[in-house]
Amino acid sequence: MNMTLIRVFGRTFFVDCGALFPDATHVGVNLILPSTNYIDEEQIHPEAWLITHGHEDHIGAMPHIFKRYPAPIYGTEFTIELIRAKFEDAGITDVTYRVWDFYKTTLFRNVKVTPFPVNHSIAQAAGLFIETPVGNVLHMGDFRIDYNPPEGTMTHHNVAKVLKNKPVHIMMSDSTNTFNEGTDNSESNTRHAIAQYFETEPGAVVVATFASNISRLDHVLQAARDKNRKVALLGRSMYRNSDIAARLHILNFPPDLIIDLEEAHRIPRNELCILCTGSQGEAFSGLHRLAFESLDAFDLKANDCVLFSSRMIPGNEKSIDALITKLIRMGCKVFTGKDDPQIHVSGHAYQEDLRTCILIAKPFSFLPVHGTYRHLKRHRELAIEAGVSPEMSFLAENGDVVLVEENTPVGVIDHVTSGRDYVCAGGIFSQNSPVYKERVQLAMTGVVVASFHVDPDSFELLQKPLVALKGIPLNDFELARKCGPIFEKVKGSLLQRKRTTRMSREEFKEQFKEDLRLAIRRHIENILNYKTAVIVML
Ligand SMILES: [Zn+2]
Ligand SMILES: [Zn+2]
Repeated sequence: MNMTLIRVFGRTFFVDCGALFPDATHVGVNLILPSTNYIDEEQIHPEAWLITHGHEDHIGAMPHIFKRYPAPIYGTEFTIELIRAKFEDAGITDVTYRVWDFYKTTLFRNVKVTPFPVNHSIAQAAGLFIETPVGNVLHMGDFRIDYNPPEGTMTHHNVAKVLKNKPVHIMMSDSTNTFNEGTDNSESNTRHAIAQYFETEPGAVVVATFASNISRLDHVLQAARDKNRKVALLGRSMYRNSDIAARLHILNFPPDLIIDLEEAHRIPRNELCILCTGSQGEAFSGLHRLAFESLDAFDLKANDCVLFSSRMIPGNEKSIDALITKLIRMGCKVFTGKDDPQIHVSGHAYQEDLRTCILIAKPFSFLPVHGTYRHLKRHRELAIEAGVSPEMSFLAENGDVVLVEENTPVGVIDHVTSGRDYVCAGGIFSQNSPVYKERVQLAMTGVVVASFHVDPDSFELLQKPLVALKGIPLNDFELARKCGPIFEKVKGSLLQRKRTTRMSREEFKEQFKEDLRLAIRRHIENILNYKTAVIVML
């Protein structure tokens, strides 16, 4: 869920605007956004949106946040196309897109922004070199170094090329894999690794991967062509992204290689590949549907083989595990990156890659980003080992303000509001909002509604109390019967208090409702041993 503000003399650039997917603990949450509280309070308007690449943790929140802070959006062609597709779905039209060419500098008065290519697990990922009158920022984006790169160039060479020996006052770098030593295999290896399954497996081979990883799609398609398998695509983003990539000429394949899923049953099983979404076990995704629904066009059979050409994103373990269990139950063979490290490589730099880039950039100061506190701390240590002075190696968390100035000792100087907003049915709520907290309580404990029909002057009960229960394991009739004596008891003690304290009729009524609520809740707590939500209507 990445979003960074870079401010130069009061002008602000928004870098990325990512979302996070909820897990089972986020009750009723569809998507998690970075909180914009601080931007709202300070009434900050962006000069531009600078987007490093099209992964969800960098663009996923844009449809929800962009409209309130309109400004031209800068990104490489593939990144812009992914944002455009999202905006079309959301009905957002009035947008200025600016497509970036690598190494071409955009001038924002005295601020120069130059994107450069980095190796990563998505097409056209960029790092940014931002030159300002008070110092230069090197923002690495998400990256790794691939020594046999499908992109044709290597990250560290590109860093050297964009810097042209200019000083870097602060380097912001990706901390995802700071605990992995060495460097990972080349993305190019996956082609050969996947081709081996195509050659030896007697059944259909299903490859699940992220649809934005165009190099991976390319390798699967090439391997399929090499081993005479036809490829059927499955999953909405798989269609969409391969379409975009083909249109931009970054994915090339002979037209007869791809078949419709409906044609799949006409192809011998050992000449078939299904390339699909759903490597994270997401509901409604391609692989999920293959496992849990029966599709008219195609059904998995025993001895088909499923490759998870992806990593397991933390938080998705349970859904992936349920998916794999179902596939095994169907008799399929399943291989993940853990079973066969050759079928997936990481898009994020290992220690050796991180060190190489730091040594080339030789930054005056260093800010690890993109990782948990534990990852950031380890990355800071790596930077110090690579020669950055400890005083200039920072450790900043969400909401921290880092000051950068030429030749001045700087660092974290302030902390502003940060947090999470939840996209839920009916709107976007802060994680701390009363509405969201109430929803969680209803989900956890259920709700009791108790209704008392009373004479407005004497507060005499005119009818037996009524009770409605949702998610409470009690009998509503018995609880309603119990509410009569509770009502009389609460009224009695409140009337006694009224004799000593002055209370208007309205105050009396409100106090009555609150005392009733607490008394009913206490009564239920005595039976069930937990506190429920209780609503009293008087
Ligand atoms: Zn990322
Ligand atoms: Zn990424």
